Amino acid sequence: MMELELIGGNPYVGLFESQLQTSIEWRKSTAEDRIDRLKRIRSWINKNQKEIREALWNDFRKPEVETDLSEIFPVTSEINHTIKNLKSWMKAKSISTPLSMLGTNSKIKFEPKGRALIISPWNYPFNLAVGPLVSALAAGCPVILKPSELTPHTSSLIERMISEIFPNHEVATILGGVETSQELLKLPFDHIFFTGSTQVGKIVMGNAAKNLISVTLELGGKSPAIVTENADITDTAKKLIYGKLLNSGQTCVAPDYALVHESIYERFLDELIIAIREMYDPNYKGIIESPDLARIVNDRHFERLEGLLKDAISKGAKLEFGGECNPHHRYVEPTLISGISEEMNISQEEIFGPIFPIIVYSDLEKAIYYINKKPKPLALYVFSQNKGEVNQVLEETSSGNAVVNDCVLHFLHPNLPFGGVNHSGIGKSHGYFGFLAFSNEKGVLHQRVGLNNATLLRPPYGVKTRQI
Ligand code: NAD
Repeated sequence: MMELELIGGNPYVGLFESQLQTSIEWRKSTAEDRIDRLKRIRSWINKNQKEIREALWNDFRKPEVETDLSEIFPVTSEINHTIKNLKSWMKAKSISTPLSMLGTNSKIKFEPKGRALIISPWNYPFNLAVGPLVSALAAGCPVILKPSELTPHTSSLIERMISEIFPNHEVATILGGVETSQELLKLPFDHIFFTGSTQVGKIVMGNAAKNLISVTLELGGKSPAIVTENADITDTAKKLIYGKLLNSGQTCVAPDYALVHESIYERFLDELIIAIREMYDPNYKGIIESPDLARIVNDRHFERLEGLLKDAISKGAKLEFGGECNPHHRYVEPTLISGISEEMNISQEEIFGPIFPIIVYSDLEKAIYYINKKPKPLALYVFSQNKGEVNQVLEETSSGNAVVNDCVLHFLHPNLPFGGVNHSGIGKSHGYFGFLAFSNEKGVLHQRVGLNNATLLRPPYGVKTRQI
């Protein structure tokens, strides 16, 4: 192995080499073999739901219901959907034969890419580690999985789960931080599936380029919500507050900011405040007492959010609601701010927390221009009951996904490709698209013995070529 000689000293070479034979054997694996692996994961999850909930609570006080809804359910439904459809996904696809290829027949075969590296983030630490693993196993790829170091309880539980189900030469978990990730990125995997920030996504892609490894990059960004004058204000406010405050705003597809038409701005702001109170303070005890709001994952992110808020206020933003930051609880109150300008850090970086800037616009063209000036977002949300407006937004903007009159929900749709575009990601995941991410679509042409479609093109060219 040429490449491996060059990376002597890497602590993971042995493990990586041990997965080579598996990757070759798994090329022949049947749908039943792969489904069996997925069933083993599903039954482990079903038996250990309590442990999963506890791990998430210990990592950042994630409410149990949110763990069920956004960590366990997406993974088990991904497994169920894959089990139901894998046979048809794996079936070689026949394609039509053009006249110039008469006599041949061709197919697209889906072969496993081979050894895969999955690097996952902390914000949905179970879902975003195990979800891509389901796709990799469906495609027939052995995996080395590196979960996030910022959620140690969940990552250790994932390690336990994997070690109880799989031998290391099939699936292995490596716990560790940036250095660990960087060592793994030196190995010549056949595919890297990375979920995390855009900044680290660039590092991953740079490393992958050295070995020409294909990548799926599920990244972040500033996902906008446009609320037009024709939106249902109450419905929109409730949905946006839910999408923004789920996981305390630490969601890749959370609406980052809202662009709201000037004619509805005041009423919309009131509805946002009502929605926050109804969901997180129904008994008037104070939002900090709510058992339903997760905490900020660590001090660094808490300080980053507090800094974003202070920077915005010092540069003229107006605090419309909230603003309390309590370092002891790593609690950032759901916060609404207006009067945002481009020189504020909050306009530039992904917020990834419960702070919601509301920007007023006067005409839709300008709102669209505001979005188009920024890097393409992971998701775009448009709230309007006017079809013309909705179509205009969908046609004149570019985003990984788009949702009309709701937000965040698309993540759970098993038949939609999920992912970003350019700065917000490369490649798609979930269901069939996840299976494709880990598969090589191999074009196979069968010729008949004795038939040669290229007879006319064979040398000596001379007279024949001139006749063509
Ligand atoms: P991150 O990029 O800091 O870390 C992700 C993973 O990369 C971790 O496992 C970490 O150990 C590793 N890593 C960190 N720095 C590295 C480096 N320099 N070299 C190599 N590896 C490194 O992301 P995060 O803070 O864990 O997650 C939040 C980000 O992820 C947000 O930007 C969010 O939008 C994005 N995200 C995207 C999706 C999606 O599906 N598109 C889902 C969740 C989160």
